[in-house]
Amino acid sequence: MAKEITFYIDQVECTAEDGCFITDAARTNGIYIPTLCNYPGLKPAGSCRVCTVKVNQRHLTACTTPVAEGMEIEVDTAELNDMRRAVVELMFTEGNHFCPACEKSGNCELQALAYRFKIMVPRFPFQFNKRDIDASHPKIFHDHNRCIQCKRCIRAIKDEQGKSVFAFKKRATDIRINLDHRLGENLSDELAEKAMEVCPVGSILVKGKGFITPIGERKYDKIPIGESRNVI
Ligand code: SF4
Repeated sequence: MAKEITFYIDQVECTAEDGCFITDAARTNGIYIPTLCNYPGLKPAGSCRVCTVKVNQRHLTACTTPVAEGMEIEVDTAELNDMRRAVVELMFTEGNHFCPACEKSGNCELQALAYRFKIMVPRFPFQFNKRDIDASHPKIFHDHNRCIQCKRCIRAIKDEQGKSVFAFKKRATDIRINLDHRLGENLSDELAEKAMEVCPVGSILVKGKGFITPIGERKYDKIPIGESRNVI
């Protein structure tokens, strides 16, 4: 069994198993650190930067940094919250997010964080990038307008040989997450559901399953993100 260590989050004494990542260690101590690319059970990627914390004056991603004995971590500060808010604003301006018309509204982590950070108007100009929608797969509707490139789908959805069904295509501003139609040919209903579940936004939707849970009764309609007992 791993050794228990003591560390501090915003000067509150916490304990966790040695070697566990800051986001997980915070959660076990009832402290929420916002994140969009991190997901329970998936290898952390540190790609969205929303979980950025400060340790010894250095900015680090909490999902990829293990806690250490005596570590002092700053999480809930005005500077860090403004950085997180700026990242969320960038995501809204870079993509085309139309929350009222999205099936994921109320279950969307990006939308929930926008509410948490009280974002009304982003400080950055909207890009209005042209993105396509891929509705050619029999089970999955893939809207590139809403993708935040968190790579959760790449890490979570694999075929029987362990190959990722989703992959990056192109580079820089043209970058896309694509569903490999050959690998995804026999995608089971369970994996299609899982893909929709792991996607933090409404980029991956399962066809024919819309609005089973009415708007107003969804996850973050009831409890704002980070405020449930298990702080997820
Ligand atoms: S499709 Fe969804 S899960 Fe995949 S990278 Fe885009 S936002 Fe993340």
